[in-house]
Amino acid sequence: MHVLVTGGAGFIGGHLAEAFLADGHDVTVLDAMDPFYDLGIKRHTLDVHRETAAEAGVDYEFVEGDVRDAELVADLVAEADYVYHQAAKAGVRPSVEAPREYDAVNVGGTLNLLDAARETDLERFVMASSSSVYGGREEYVPFSETDPTLPVSPYGASKLAAERYAAAYHEVYSLPTVSLRYFTVYGPRMRPNMAISNFVSRCLNDEPPVVYGDGTQTRDFTYIDDVLDANRQLLSSAAADGEAVNVGSTDTIEIRTLAAEIRDQLAPDLELEFAERYDADADHTHADTSKAERLLDYDPDHTIREGVATFVEWYRANRDWYEPLVRSS
Ligand code: NAD
Repeated sequence: MHVLVTGGAGFIGGHLAEAFLADGHDVTVLDAMDPFYDLGIKRHTLDVHRETAAEAGVDYEFVEGDVRDAELVADLVAEADYVYHQAAKAGVRPSVEAPREYDAVNVGGTLNLLDAARETDLERFVMASSSSVYGGREEYVPFSETDPTLPVSPYGASKLAAERYAAAYHEVYSLPTVSLRYFTVYGPRMRPNMAISNFVSRCLNDEPPVVYGDGTQTRDFTYIDDVLDANRQLLSSAAADGEAVNVGSTDTIEIRTLAAEIRDQLAPDLELEFAERYDADADHTHADTSKAERLLDYDPDHTIREGVATFVEWYRANRDWYEPLVRSS
């Protein structure tokens, strides 16, 4: 099979492309190399892809380009059997400064891909959506797909619009589309500007972890391998076509508890530092994953404590190249 992974130089897309290559598929990565964080991390990921493709004896191509370029997107989609659309402006907080840019990339770019896919016999269009479509209200915790979608950030609104387009294209053009609502994904090569990479990096450098707000916000952190399992399943299953499905861990934790546990493990003498809370951050994310279990045999098997321990181990082993890039981001 030939898989097009948009955003494939990024964290989640990078792992997806690597997994598909290792599984024996040909992969094309389309990525604009957005300098949202140090590009060295993305270049490292592209090197991993080339090595994995050589080992597996499959074709790999990296195309530096933009999902807003409809012509380029149409050419690449025409050659693919599957599209895994991960490219996006991904930060919640910066979306407050640049809502229109988030709309152009996250909604406009998705429409370019969907329109291109209508012209082909694509097996499936899988897109990365987000828990931020729920908005984080406590009364709906844990969020299930039948709960209201009330995003509180331009980022969340853009992800919701994109996934509704995917569902509509399934409805009116019979395009097999699935949206996976990821709940804060973490693991090797993760984005530097996220809580876990930040806490680990700061503690290992004897700097207190910084918690925004009072830290009573809760997060459903999901280990990257569980996200890969859900995506892999969609290569062969049509059970979720037309649907949006939660992909979380259900092992929810308060941010202050997570920060304290990482601190206790790596630098017990440090005090936590508290900074002003961001309005665009959801108060709570907690997934009800019963729909994913039913449709995708989803069975997340990494608790937050196990996942963080694995990440810390990976961080230490890759500290020489990863840490300078985390700290320069
Ligand atoms: P990431 O920033 O590491 O990856 C996104 C990639 O998209 C980057 O490599 C970037 O260069 C690329 N990109 C940005 N604009 C582009 C454009 N105009 N054209 C082509 N490529 C472009 O982020 P990630 O954490 O890997 O997120 C991947 C997807 O998952 C995104 O759609 C994000 O919204 C979604 N998501 C992520 C999380 C998470 O916790 N990481 C949670 C929910 C949803």
